[in-house]
Amino acid sequence: MGIKENLKNILSDIPSNVQLVAVSKTKPNNFIQEAYDVGQRVFGENKVQELVKKHEDLPKDIQWHFIGHLQSNKVKYIAPFISLIHGVDSLKLLKTINKEAKKNNRVISCLLQVHIAQEQTKFGFDSNDVEKIVQEILSSDLSNINICGLMGMASYVNDEEKIKSEFNVLKELFNHLKNDYFSDKSYFKEISMGMSGDYKLAIDSGSTMVRIGSTIFGQRTYL
Ligand SMILES: *Cc1c(COP(=O)(O)O)cnc(C)c1O
Repeated sequence: MGIKENLKNILSDIPSNVQLVAVSKTKPNNFIQEAYDVGQRVFGENKVQELVKKHEDLPKDIQWHFIGHLQSNKVKYIAPFISLIHGVDSLKLLKTINKEAKKNNRVISCLLQVHIAQEQTKFGFDSNDVEKIVQEILSSDLSNINICGLMGMASYVNDEEKIKSEFNVLKELFNHLKNDYFSDKSYFKEISMGMSGDYKLAIDSGSTMVRIGSTIFGQRTYL
């Protein structure tokens, strides 16, 4: 099946209030253009250099999301155009994003990445630390970033109950933060969770944004 067909199938599977981030990392520009031609505008990338090149080469109304692990020294390359950074996992990184956003006269939207999986290798804040981090963020003068919500990745396992319970941890944490810290902030509204293998479970658990790559563009030969 082709990209257009895959995209259509996924879009018919997800409710209209859930945003699809088409994860195009490692895939060539003509794949992205094909998805663009049938209306997809939001794409996710996880390498700064690759993203900058694609941003230069492809239509300017694409909304680029950074979904990988971002190093502070590379923020400056994407700050002029990035529309959402999913994986913020330190206050230092957030301060750098704020500084670079200010230089570009922008407010950059960010999601705090929370470690919900059992696996050791995944990045993100420990769920027990997020509240303290939010308090620190809100008491810092970071006027060029908006914390728009949370992002997480479930364990890479077949056990659906386990995956669901991890997604539910993220959802509950989101609700708690929304109630206690962001009730007057309309931009705090996103829960980015769900990939090719688990997006239906993520949507059942309240995801507002799914990040789907291989189901649209085919398997990648590397991550
Ligand atoms: C690669 C990647 C995805 C997409 O993964 P697929 O399984 O191909 O859908 C989603 N989120 C993050 C953070 C990724 O790195």
